[in-house]
Amino acid sequence: MIAGTLFNDASRRLENALRHLDISADAAERLKFPKTSLSVSIPVRMDDGSLRMFPGYRVRYDDTRGPGKGGVRYHPKVTLDEVQSLAFWMTFKCALLNLPFGGAKGGVAVNPKELSRAELERLSRGYVEAVADVIGPDVDILAPDVYTNEIIMGWMTDQYSLIQRRLSLGVATGKPLALGGSAGRDRATGTGAFYILEALLPKFDQFPAQTTVAIQGLGNAGAVIAELLYQAGYKITALSDSQGGVYNPNGLDVPEILRYKRQRRSLSQIYCSETVCGLGENSPISNADLLALKVDVLIPAALENQITEANAQQIQAKYILEVANGPVTSGADGILVQKGICVFPDILVNAGGVTVSYFEWVQNRSGLYWEPEEVNRQLQAKMVKEALTVWRLSQDLNLDLRTAAYVQALKRLGGALDAKGTRDYYQGSV
Ligand code: NAD
Repeated sequence: MIAGTLFNDASRRLENALRHLDISADAAERLKFPKTSLSVSIPVRMDDGSLRMFPGYRVRYDDTRGPGKGGVRYHPKVTLDEVQSLAFWMTFKCALLNLPFGGAKGGVAVNPKELSRAELERLSRGYVEAVADVIGPDVDILAPDVYTNEIIMGWMTDQYSLIQRRLSLGVATGKPLALGGSAGRDRATGTGAFYILEALLPKFDQFPAQTTVAIQGLGNAGAVIAELLYQAGYKITALSDSQGGVYNPNGLDVPEILRYKRQRRSLSQIYCSETVCGLGENSPISNADLLALKVDVLIPAALENQITEANAQQIQAKYILEVANGPVTSGADGILVQKGICVFPDILVNAGGVTVSYFEWVQNRSGLYWEPEEVNRQLQAKMVKEALTVWRLSQDLNLDLRTAAYVQALKRLGGALDAKGTRDYYQGSV
């Protein structure tokens, strides 16, 4: 186990959940350690003829309930500690949603914005070359994450298929539709998060028309939920990306802003471009100020560690919907609980992506492809079912929603681990 801060922080959630249910000591011990961690160096021939090396990682945290499953992240700050933490979260997420997968994650320390398309392709194929022995449709399945997308999944699938000398669509999900992708996968994380909010907010007598929302991060996940909430009548007062954000207390015109963002790629260029400013009273807002806005629902949809002990006291939202992985640290958890802020936890909220990834894997293996309506129907059914299970557990055991979600996932993980043999069995006491 590595002693990185993010993983230590992630592990605290496990320790906390272990206090609230009885699983075998064997199972608890197994879940404290990743099954395999691979660090690689990926050589990439750059367009100018030079050679650059990029550090890459693949961690399979647990595969007791099925093959490892997890995205590949491209970001300059990717470390083994981060990848291991993300693989840990995937393990609990897949168990919570009752998907027949374990948890895994990968990453490359790179700023993809500095690479040409051809360099990015060589890097993506190089990553697969480097980890080919530890991935596969029955072993560990790749998917998109921050700054990777369906095109990259297409390259990775192709590269793995070349190595195997047969088409192997099941090695990655989030692929282009033309290459075995599933309808609805591109919007699944945001859509799933929307279903969770719609299922749980009424439990607090909070309804769309009276609900203001601020969203940090306007990528794959953030942009979709922004659009869905806007359509459902929520008032979105702030949106941001890595460069900063826009704020309007009277509500932003989300479709217009997304259209501009797609055209110009960054919100910073549209803070006060005449057309957008002309639409209302939009003003610039920093990411730090966005997090502290007095809104009903705050949605961190960018990166981890956004709400920490340093800024938790400043949070004024009533609810936090964790679309990103790990946006709230364990240190901030206690402060938010004291302030009466309800956190809808990441392993439940953002599980729509991996759920439709599961549907994609099923479709690849069966060769029978579903209509978009069928994907969304099954996604909604699964998300709402597990959300209500977590809600009931939180009420029955008097737990916050995050602890209840971990307890529910642990029940399934503990059961699967125990089914392989327990200390009691070997000692003849059962
Ligand atoms: P993405 O690359 O599509 O978008 C990331 C967004 O975050 C971009 O808008 C970027 O500008 C913004 N951002 C980056 N750094 C920021 C900062 N410091 N402050 C504010 N904004 C910043 O990524 P994504 O796929 O939307 O993933 C976002 C989060 O959701 C990640 O935590 C990811 O692990 C999680 N997630 C994504 C999926 C999925 O299917 N895409 C599934 C589960 C979880």
